[in-house]
Amino acid sequence: NSFRDFALDADILRALDGLGYDAPTHVQEKVIPHALEGRDLAVKSRTGSGKTAAFAIPLCQLADWGENKPQALILTPTRELAAQIKEDVTNIGRFKRIKATAVYGKSPFHRQKLELKQKSHVVAGTPGRVLDHIQKGTLALDRIKYLVIDEADEMLNMGFIDQVEAIIQELPEDRTTMVFSATLPADVEALCHRYMKDPLDIEA
Ligand code: AMP
Repeated sequence: NSFRDFALDADILRALDGLGYDAPTHVQEKVIPHALEGRDLAVKSRTGSGKTAAFAIPLCQLADWGENKPQALILTPTRELAAQIKEDVTNIGRFKRIKATAVYGKSPFHRQKLELKQKSHVVAGTPGRVLDHIQKGTLALDRIKYLVIDEADEMLNMGFIDQVEAIIQELPEDRTTMVFSATLPADVEALCHRYMKDPLDIEA
């Protein structure tokens, strides 16, 4: 199978070639076509499966370069993951000049604020710092069309549920939501049920 089987533009395919991604992984094969159609997805998948690119590829494809406000918000449990997602989105969106920003704690707020003030198509962050930016008015959410909750089980284990829900309340309702989780315990299922529209379950 090939990335050329998906409805992806040449500038995305060129970036994937440059990264040495010859063929989609299992999770990418299952997720990308539905994500491109804007379907809500609950994906059971672990780290190392290529799950980051499974959402980063469709987000880069769907992003509108001309829109200055963030269009995609990705919530992750750790700083390292937020930084990794920023890097992956930047690499995949390279030839489309997609800009990604990572926001997380224990890192200067001011620098993140300046980055968010520039064009930033995709924002990846940890719940506490994302809320902080929302409350200080430095992260605009009115153009968000895509929400990804990454490592949802980890995020809930770390006690981020209230913060995640507070963030979701601030997002436009007309959006696509994707939840990625290695396991789907009852609290993750409940989160999916509460905030997604007719989600498709994918086990990869
Ligand atoms: P992840 O599960 O997102 O942490 O990805 C695991 C590793 O697989 C990362 O180093 C990615 O760069 C790499 N990767 C993701 N998709 C592909 C692909 N289609 N072909 C080869 N490597 C990939």
